[in-house]
Amino acid sequence: MTSSALVNDAKQLLPELQKIRRDLHQIPEFGLELPKTLAYVVDQVKDLGELRVEHDISCATVLIRGGKPGPTVLLRADMDALRVDEATGLDFASTNGYMHACGHDLHMALGIGAAKLLYARRAELQGNILMFFQSGEEGHGGADRMLERDMHLASGELPVSAYGIHVFSGWGIPKGIFASKPGPLMASAGDALVTFHGKGGHGSSPWLSKDPISVMVEAIAAIPTMITKRFDAFDPVIVNVGWISAGKTDTTNIVPELAEFGATIRTFSHENFDAIRRELKILLESHAHTAGLTVDVEFSPASQVVVNDAASVARAEKIIHQEFGENRYVNLPHAMTGGEDFASIIKVIPGAFIFLGACPPEIDPNVAPVNHSNHAVFDDEVLVEGSVLLAGVALDILNG
Ligand SMILES: [Zn+2]
Repeated sequence: MTSSALVNDAKQLLPELQKIRRDLHQIPEFGLELPKTLAYVVDQVKDLGELRVEHDISCATVLIRGGKPGPTVLLRADMDALRVDEATGLDFASTNGYMHACGHDLHMALGIGAAKLLYARRAELQGNILMFFQSGEEGHGGADRMLERDMHLASGELPVSAYGIHVFSGWGIPKGIFASKPGPLMASAGDALVTFHGKGGHGSSPWLSKDPISVMVEAIAAIPTMITKRFDAFDPVIVNVGWISAGKTDTTNIVPELAEFGATIRTFSHENFDAIRRELKILLESHAHTAGLTVDVEFSPASQVVVNDAASVARAEKIIHQEFGENRYVNLPHAMTGGEDFASIIKVIPGAFIFLGACPPEIDPNVAPVNHSNHAVFDDEVLVEGSVLLAGVALDILNG
């Protein structure tokens, strides 16, 4: 098989994949409940291998067994949409109050494309392909639900490698250009919810109460200094307070009992994921303790840091060069502050997450509406590039 055979086969599939993408675009669903989407995807892939469907979390896997024994490669596509009223004016725009504004409709179509390309080559495969169709990427922990249920172990063993693709409608990446980097690619994103417990009283005699407001304000002000002094400047940590709350807006002469705030936390290494939670708790508790208060610190379940395996990125770059020629891959200078739950998958299976520009050529990708915008548009001709990359890395791992 030559490399151009894969691209030619993907080009033959393109009209079918575009139809799949546009059909799915018109039935966007949210979170972990994607009954129509799941049924559509399952219908496309059910004859390609051993199917497992988990209806309560709207997830599915398809195991394509190769003709020869060997390891398993996991290829992931996410399937959920956003609560956004679509304003693109496309003739296949959604009308139900949800929108595939993050391009997950393209991820499903290119995943199905890769599955079809690999199924056609199954006799020669020295190992297995595990297609991983997940719900709930947008903050609902879909990848983690699938891992908890051992859906990644469908072949009976841990896959040796995992790949996923994310399309971008903007962010400066032109159509058909791939981008990624070894090491940290996307942040861990999670929340802290903090409540200081004081002792209420009269505002005229604050020394008789325990004011939680002043303690909380001092503690918040100390966070940036703690980060500067405790964390490596080249492994960034972001703690941004998004809201604070205490007292009543129509009253000034009461010391309230409680003061609360919420913050988003972004980290770029597994080490700092744990370290910032530990250090923040120490800082808040020491401020509370010094003033005779107590504090509750709660951390929401957070996405992990997307940490790409360097060899897996190099393999993707090699396949992109082999299949599409020069200047189609960009090594990004730094990680993005957005989060992505594919991180949980490549924390247990070495792999890589690769971005793919899908901005229509008539729009400048530097100013195009980005993913999650109600105006975001994706050129679905890139389903060729996406399918070929996923199929190409899998073939290279198993047969290369
Ligand atoms: Zn997304």
